[in-house]
Amino acid sequence: MSGEPEIHCPKCSYRPAAEDRWACLPGCGTQWNTFWTHGVCPGCGHAWQDTQCLACLKISPHRAWYHYPDGGELPEIEEESDIEVAAR
Ligand SMILES: [Zn+2]
Ligand SMILES: [Zn+2]
Repeated sequence: MSGEPEIHCPKCSYRPAAEDRWACLPGCGTQWNTFWTHGVCPGCGHAWQDTQCLACLKISPHRAWYHYPDGGELPEIEEESDIEVAAR
């Protein structure tokens, strides 16, 4: 098995901190750490596909933040573009 993934921004390598928060907007307005739930809002259960970086403010697919040590390629999936808004 491949072990725990490294989580960091695919654009700038920013590592999300435990106290970082994202907001479910437009949506239910819940603020939470999206990496604790793999992008699923704990307030309404919406699964966000894209996550905005708190450091560089670029938007990347949520799964692109997970970097697995075995270098496994993630399949490219075209999905609806939901974007989380940085909450700080
Ligand atoms: Zn970034
Ligand atoms: Zn929500």
